[in-house]
Amino acid sequence: MASSSNQPAGSKQRAVIVGGGPAGALMALYLSQDRGFKVDLFEAFDENIIGGPTVRSWNVVLFDRGSDALKAGGVDLQKEAGERLLTLAGSLRHHKKEKTSKFFLDSLSICRGDFAKALLNKASKVPNVNVHFGCTFSKVDMEQRVATFERGNGDVVESEYDMLIGADGVNSRVRKELEENVPDFTVRQREDPMAFKTILIPIMNMEGADEGWKKRFHVTNSDIGCIIAPPRSDGMLTATVVLPSEGKTSFDALMKTTQDVRDFFGHYYPSAFGHEGPSEEVAKEFLERRTQQLRSTYCSRLAHGSIFLIGDAAHSMWASLGQGVNAALEDCQVFAQVLDSATEGKAVGQAVDVPKVLEAYNERRFEDAVAVCELSEEGMGGARSMRPAFAAQLLMTVLLNKTLGLLAPKVFTPPSLMAISGNKMSYGEILRGVKREATVTKALFVAGVVCAVAVVARKVVMRV
Ligand SMILES: Cc1cc2nc3c(=O)[nH]c(=O)nc-3n(C[C@H](O)[C@H](O)[C@H](O)COP(=O)(O)OP(=O)(O)OC[C@H]3O[C@@H](n4cnc5c(N)ncnc54)[C@H](O)[C@@H]3O)c2cc1C
Repeated sequence: MASSSNQPAGSKQRAVIVGGGPAGALMALYLSQDRGFKVDLFEAFDENIIGGPTVRSWNVVLFDRGSDALKAGGVDLQKEAGERLLTLAGSLRHHKKEKTSKFFLDSLSICRGDFAKALLNKASKVPNVNVHFGCTFSKVDMEQRVATFERGNGDVVESEYDMLIGADGVNSRVRKELEENVPDFTVRQREDPMAFKTILIPIMNMEGADEGWKKRFHVTNSDIGCIIAPPRSDGMLTATVVLPSEGKTSFDALMKTTQDVRDFFGHYYPSAFGHEGPSEEVAKEFLERRTQQLRSTYCSRLAHGSIFLIGDAAHSMWASLGQGVNAALEDCQVFAQVLDSATEGKAVGQAVDVPKVLEAYNERRFEDAVAVCELSEEGMGGARSMRPAFAAQLLMTVLLNKTLGLLAPKVFTPPSLMAISGNKMSYGEILRGVKREATVTKALFVAGVVCAVAVVARKVVMRV
C-alpha cells in the first residue's frame, strides 16, 4: 500500500481533491495561491486520455460567471487553451429561416476535456500541487481523516487530509460516502425527462453556411425536440440532440436502423445534414452512441466536518441552462472568498479551522446550489424548448419592463433569468426574481380575467 502522506510537522495543511474536472482543477489552483495548503488532486482517468475528442468531448460554453471565476483564480484561458478556445459571436436559430441574436455574444466555447486538461496542466506546474492520475477514490475514514484510492493495477493509495473536497462529478463517490455514513446527510436526485445524444456536424456543409456560422451557438427547434450546438475550433458543431426519454418520440422509438437516423435528421433537422440526413457511417455511429439523461442533485448540505462538495458532485443539474461548468467554477471562487475572510488578519501559514470554514461556505453557497438546480428544471428543462407558461411569464416580464419599467425601473425590471450568464446576481437572487415575476404574471392574468368577466357581466345586466 502506497501513502501520499509526506507532510513534515508544522508545514501546510493538506487539501485532498477528488476529481480533476473543471471544479477540482480550478479549486487546486485557488488553494495553491498563498492560502496555506498543500494540495493533492486525484483523478480516476489516466493522464493520456484526459482531453481531446475521445473523452466527454462535448463543448461547454463559459459565460462571465465562469470566466470571471477563472480570472480570479489566476487562469488566462486564452493562454492555457490557445486556439482550442473560441469566442462566440452570438447565437443562430435555425427555424424556417435563420435568425441571429446577441445571446452568447463574447461567451467562450471549449471542449470539456481540453478545458480540464488545460487547468490540470497549469495546476501540475505549481510547486505545492501534486496531481495523481489513474487513482479512483473508493472510501474515506472520517475519524482518522484518510482517503483511500485505487489504481488500475490494484494498488491502493492512502492520503491523509485536513480538508477533503469531493469534485468527482454527478455520480460522486465522496457524496455517497457522506450519504452512507452521516445520518442527517441526505441526497435527492431528479431525472430530466429529456434525453440526449451527441453528434458532430461540419458547419460549412450546412445549407447556407458562411464563415460567421463557425462562431455562433446554433439552436434548432422541431416539433419533437431540439438541437443545441456550440462550435468547435476545427469547424465542427458539437451538437446535442434532445428528445423525450420515453414514448413515441424517444430515440429508441424513432431510430432502430441507420436509415431511421438519416430520415430523422432529414425530416426534423434538414439544416444539419440536408434532406438526405447524415452519411451511412455517421448514422451508424449515432445509432450506436449511448442515450444519456441528466439528473439534478439536491444535497441536504454541502459540507460535513472536514469534507465538502463542489461542482456536479454538489449540484448537478439539467443541461437546459448551460450553467454546470459556470456554477462549478463559481463554487471555487466563492470558497476562496470564504476562506480568505476566515484567515483575514492571520499570519500566512497559520492553520485554519477547516470545519468552521466549511460551515461558513455551506451557509454562503447552499441557497445558490439549490437555486441553480431548480432554475434548470423551472426554465427550459424537461420541455422541448420552453414551457408555454414559462415563455408567457418571460414575455410578460419583458413587456412590463419595456412599458411600465420606464416609469418604475426598479419594480418592472428585465427578466431575472437573463442575468444568469453574468455574475451580478447570485442564483438564489435570480430564482427569487423568477418567482416574483411568476406572481406578477399570475396576478395580471387573474386581474385580466376578472375585468373581462366584469365587462361581459355588465353587458348582460344592461341588456336585461
Ligand atoms: C452534453 C453536455 C453539454 C454541457 N454543456 C454545458 C455548457 O455549455 N455550459 C456549462 O456550464 N455546463 C455544461 N454542461 C455541464 C458540465 O459539463 C458539467 O457541469 C461540468 O463538467 C461539471 O464539472 P465538475 O468538475 O463538477 O465534474 P466533471 O466534469 O464530471 O468532473 C469530475 C471528474 O472527477 C473524476 N472522478 C469521478 N469519480 C472519481 C473517483 N471516484 N475518483 C477520482 N476521480 C473521479 C472524473 O473522471 C472527472 O474527471 C454540459 C453537460 C453535458 C452533458
